Amino acid sequence: MDMLEGKIALVTGASRGIGRAIALTLAGYGADVAVNYCGSREKAQEVADEITALGRRAMIVQADISSQEECERMFKEVADQLGVPDILVNNAGITRDNLAMRMSEEEFDKVLDTNLKGTFFCMKLAAKQMLRKRYGRIISLSSIVGLHGNAGQINYSAAKAGVVGMTKSLAKELASRGITVNAVAPGYVETDMTAVLTDVQKAAMMTQIPLGRIGQPQDIAEAVAFLASDKASYITGQVISVDGGMGI
Ligand code: NAP
Repeated sequence: MDMLEGKIALVTGASRGIGRAIALTLAGYGADVAVNYCGSREKAQEVADEITALGRRAMIVQADISSQEECERMFKEVADQLGVPDILVNNAGITRDNLAMRMSEEEFDKVLDTNLKGTFFCMKLAAKQMLRKRYGRIISLSSIVGLHGNAGQINYSAAKAGVVGMTKSLAKELASRGITVNAVAPGYVETDMTAVLTDVQKAAMMTQIPLGRIGQPQDIAEAVAFLASDKASYITGQVISVDGGMGI
């Protein structure tokens, strides 16, 4: 099924984990994909090679999304090499966990700069390009932690709650121009980000998942692909939880 045939997508943080699954899934549904990475060049190239093997166009583009300048360069490179994106997936994200009383300003700022400000820079640049097409799909990764909070993640929850606020505001700004703006809020997904949790933390998390299994990157990627498609053309400003029922 090629529901994204002819579409161009930019996925941030697509070298690993959920972003990798999103990039491959969008390509599987027919999109050409720009694979953004920050440090993992080889892994990004592997993703691009897999996309090319699917018969789609792909490129890798290095940029630290917490830098506005680098985001500007990234959007220019993608437009020049692949074309203006129809789909932006703001997936890149990091954690720097600590209890609030112990959290440094550096830990707070680093997470906000990447997860919130980086998402803002990409939203802004994509919106400018998409306005000319009068078409666009902007999908950002929030988190169950942004909706419900989590001890030890005051910085991350602030950023992910902020992504929800930005999604709703931008949806209102762009709705009349044919651009939808939505978010996906994953629960506990098996990636490098969660591999650092202790066995005790993982076991505690499992008890909170009604569907009884840890999420896989593909679970998130399918929701993103749906929001990116024309099947979701009447959905904007929404947050879809993909969390096995954790947030119920
Ligand atoms: P991950 O496995 O740690 O991968 C993170 C990705 O983000 C990598 O591709 C990394 O690129 C990229 N990245 C990090 N900082 C970047 C920067 N400054 N500029 C550009 N790219 C950057 O993470 P994940 O678990 O797949 O998470 C993906 C998204 O889902 C994040 O937004 C995360 O907050 C969200 N999420 C994850 C979970 C979960 O349980 N895993 C739950 C809820 C929400 P390089 O390797 O190239 O540096």
